[in-house]
Amino acid sequence: MQKGNIGITTENIFPVIKKFLYSDHDIFLRELVSNAVDATQKLKTLAAKGDFTGEIGDAGVRITLDEAAGTLTVSDHGIGMTAEEIDKYINQIAFSGANDFLEKYKQDANAIIGHFGLGFYSAFMVAGQVEIISRSYRPDATAVRWVCDGSPAYEISETEKSERGTDIILHIDEESKEFLQKERISALLNKYCRFLPVPIIFGKKTEWKDGKQVDTDEDNVINDTHPLWTRTPQDLKDEDYKAFYRQLYPMSDEPLFWIHLNVDFPFHLTGVLYFPKIKSNIEIHRNKIQLYCNQVFVTDQVENIVPEFLTLLHGVIDSPDIPLNVSRSYLQSDANVKKISTYITKKVSDRLASLFKTDRPAFEQKWDDLKLFIHYGMLSQPDFYDKAKSFALLKDTTGKRFDYEEYRKLIESEQTDKDGNLIYLYATDTQAQYAAIEAATARGYNVLLMDGQLDSPLVGLLEQKFEKARFSRVDADTPERLIVKKDAPTLALSEEEKLTLTEIFKHQLPKEKPETENGDAGMEFHVEVANMGAEAAPVCVTQSEYMRRMKEMSRLQEGMSFYGQMPDMYNLVLNADHSLIQKILTEATTATSESLTPVTARLKELQARRTVLDDEKRKADKDTENKEAKEKCAADLNACEDAIAAAEKERTDILAGYAEKQATISQLVDLALLQNGLLRGAALTAFVRRSVEILK
Ligand code: ADP
Repeated sequence: MQKGNIGITTENIFPVIKKFLYSDHDIFLRELVSNAVDATQKLKTLAAKGDFTGEIGDAGVRITLDEAAGTLTVSDHGIGMTAEEIDKYINQIAFSGANDFLEKYKQDANAIIGHFGLGFYSAFMVAGQVEIISRSYRPDATAVRWVCDGSPAYEISETEKSERGTDIILHIDEESKEFLQKERISALLNKYCRFLPVPIIFGKKTEWKDGKQVDTDEDNVINDTHPLWTRTPQDLKDEDYKAFYRQLYPMSDEPLFWIHLNVDFPFHLTGVLYFPKIKSNIEIHRNKIQLYCNQVFVTDQVENIVPEFLTLLHGVIDSPDIPLNVSRSYLQSDANVKKISTYITKKVSDRLASLFKTDRPAFEQKWDDLKLFIHYGMLSQPDFYDKAKSFALLKDTTGKRFDYEEYRKLIESEQTDKDGNLIYLYATDTQAQYAAIEAATARGYNVLLMDGQLDSPLVGLLEQKFEKARFSRVDADTPERLIVKKDAPTLALSEEEKLTLTEIFKHQLPKEKPETENGDAGMEFHVEVANMGAEAAPVCVTQSEYMRRMKEMSRLQEGMSFYGQMPDMYNLVLNADHSLIQKILTEATTATSESLTPVTARLKELQARRTVLDDEKRKADKDTENKEAKEKCAADLNACEDAIAAAEKERTDILAGYAEKQATISQLVDLALLQNGLLRGAALTAFVRRSVEILK
């Protein structure tokens, strides 16, 4: 028997392994089974080269539990190890600067394990004692037994073993007893070993007999040794891809389509990526890509390996060239990872582009399921935007779809404004914005439907990318002014008349601000008069595009809550060209003229006086000496301002008092509000009541 110390420079590696790697301790099984698979494949390689001429026989790797003995054993019929090889590969864990490294990577179990080929030693995370019983494939080899209790001291001796290969026997720790449970091991094997290239056998298949599950004679092979991504695309049918998808995600809807990845140069990568149906909620769809290294499951956290938007895809990537043993943050800067990421992005955009070209109807049909993904990519990845702009679609409110170029051509003639800007009109809700959509359509405009989760930031992006283009929600202005084709005609009404109109309408707006869904600051109206043509509605409500966008963004972004606290601001636009408005104005002027004339005259006088006083005050201010005169001027001006305010209030009161009795005005205001879904609560009830009165 030979005794010795394991050749590591760190005084005692095992406490380090146990301590630092604790969180990841179930990977021990992955490491041991991978070693067994490697040993089996090495034997096959030797046989293929003629260096091994014996019978390969049963090439499976077996995992066995012995609860009574407290052991878990991983057995293979691979190349095995001689005493010299155990000494070389197991005892001499030759590494330098180990302390430095452990210090640096102590958070990262994978890093330590992979970097030093410590895979085997991960067994000590769960076992107090580990035995290796091995017989090399070499014809004259004798079997050896190596045993180590977790200290750097080991023993190695000759033993009996009839078959070629290796048994790794773990004497499971008291605190790791869970690894003696069949269910636990079964779950781990299913996670890490499901697609290993050599049969992995765990117990026997069971069947129902006499009302209970009993073992059959058949080995329970837990893995698929030729998973779909390792096979040639030419040999595979759609059904195979769908079946594999179901195997990976039994709970998901059928995928839209898929890409089979296969590269040999400048890196190795295989895999299958599926486009899932994503209708809404990006978050829940993340982390469905599984990363493998030579068919060994590594992780489903791929965010540093593929661009962020691609983490929405599902499927499998298998590459031995992704450095798994470095810290996660380092991954992003790795040249191979960058190349892989670029390659996958290109593959994805090529696939979409080719579907768009070769089967436009199918592409259009899938668009609603795809668009969230494509828009996310366009927003987050500039190089993806450059590719996607040729196949991304815009959908109008009638359901027709256009690519960007087609759409530009469609609206070019009708929707270019006087400054040569192309105005893209869009609606976010066809029901709520029905009237505005109809009015725009009647003018020969096309209206896009932008009701997707990412459409609001997309509008911002497209405005940046499209030359001389602007997006405007269809209700952002009156239909006439959505796209200004020539300078607006000067208003025929005098300032005085405009004032009368705005005053009488202002006072008929709902007094109570209706609560909005998110409990913010309610609504505020600005009344204005415009010439919109005799055919257009007498009154309409619009909402400033800018304010609305700011408010929408404030909901998504911190630091913009300022906008969130602002009330929703609307314009109530009165159409001076409409006969009803003209009638209302004439009637109001006649009815109020008697009481209003003296007030208006006084106001005019006061305003004239203010101009004079203003002038005097300015002069007095220059004369720094005469303090008394300065104070008098200021006081006079103040008094005049107060008198103006009082007169203005008087005028307002007269007009408001008049308007209050005019059902037509209230009715017009309410109709405009109603058309925009803004008439709610008490105001709505009042409107209904008033309407009934009018009908009487
Ligand atoms: P790695 O697998 O990363 O090289 P390990 O510590 O897991 O590091 O294993 C060290 C070496 O021990 C392997 O490279 C292999 O040569 C040998 N070895 C481990 N397990 C087996 C096995 N089951 N059969 C044959 N050789 C093995």
